[in-house]
Amino acid sequence: MTRPLLAEIDLAALRHNYRLAQARAPVSQAMAVLKANAYGHGAVACAQALEDLAPAFAVACLEEAMELREAGITTPILLLEGIFDASELEYVDTLGLWMTVHSQWQVDALFAYRPTTPIPVWLKVDSGMHRLGFPPREAEGLWHKLQADRGRVSELYLMSHFATADALDSQQFRQQLTLLQGLAKRLDAPTCLANSPATLAWPETHGDWNRPGIMLYGSDPLEGANDASRRLRPVMTLRSRIIALQDVAAGEPVGYGGRWRASRRSRIAVVACGYGDGYDRHARDGTPVLVDGQRASLAGRVSMDMLTVDVSDVPGAAIGSEVVLWGRAAGGEVLSVDEVARHCETISYTLLTGMLPRVPRRYH
Ligand code: PLP
Repeated sequence: MTRPLLAEIDLAALRHNYRLAQARAPVSQAMAVLKANAYGHGAVACAQALEDLAPAFAVACLEEAMELREAGITTPILLLEGIFDASELEYVDTLGLWMTVHSQWQVDALFAYRPTTPIPVWLKVDSGMHRLGFPPREAEGLWHKLQADRGRVSELYLMSHFATADALDSQQFRQQLTLLQGLAKRLDAPTCLANSPATLAWPETHGDWNRPGIMLYGSDPLEGANDASRRLRPVMTLRSRIIALQDVAAGEPVGYGGRWRASRRSRIAVVACGYGDGYDRHARDGTPVLVDGQRASLAGRVSMDMLTVDVSDVPGAAIGSEVVLWGRAAGGEVLSVDEVARHCETISYTLLTGMLPRVPRRYH
């Protein structure tokens, strides 16, 4: 028997979620964000599944774009962080990539380069997140310079990122939006502003382009779900099996450090999945899993290759029983990665991108 852990990737769910992003923002084109190996789902397989739906993809860096091009993906690809070195411009040019510029040296490098065909450029403005981008006043000056250089710049977009679009009542979000609306109006600029939460909850942000990421993978980025986010479908199911069972007496500890102690005589299932697979070691006792579709909870610290679950209330639990760590069980029951993330005091993004190569991906 092979180790039973695998990440099943439901490409029909990915397509459903992409269509939801489109339907939520009919005025915009949705660029599917496939960075970090499509948030751990496999960038090439996800790109192939979305190729006929998405007019563009977005990745973090040139290496990620090259992986897609080498796999035969011809869809336009935006480099969200632009280039990291002037030498990358040649690849931007020859691979037909779209380029973000967020720093002066990138603009200088572009002006010093002669592309064979002009490049679509996305001018990133720091509207208040204070991570990447030009201060608004500098951006205005640059906008005009870039716009005037038709030999190098084929299309120009105003781009920015929201720090708090997931919070339904955020003053910072409002301030960012007001600033961006003013800037876009003054420059008469096409925009690309919305990430997943903004796509789902803030129609005011919907520009010529949106950049949904996490929602494509079925995780709800909103602090409080809305009608659209409730229709998202989980794409990754992390599935394993019980590989050992034992009964422990009341008062007995389980696992490293003896963190969990049985409050009654308990049945403990050992499941083939651990932090060596990417499952978060910060998962608390009580973190839910689905055993044959029924909820049970983590009992004791996550080990490198295994975790332990209290199955005292799952009478049918046996060696070989299916255990879903997140996603959809064979009977259709769903455990959202968002719920698991809350028990690990993290966000779904880290759990999904944290899946290690040891976990085989199976696509259907
Ligand atoms: N745009 C940029 C610049 C990003 O950094 C990200 C993700 O971090 C996204 C879009 C997609 O964000 P989300 O996954 O929240 O939709």
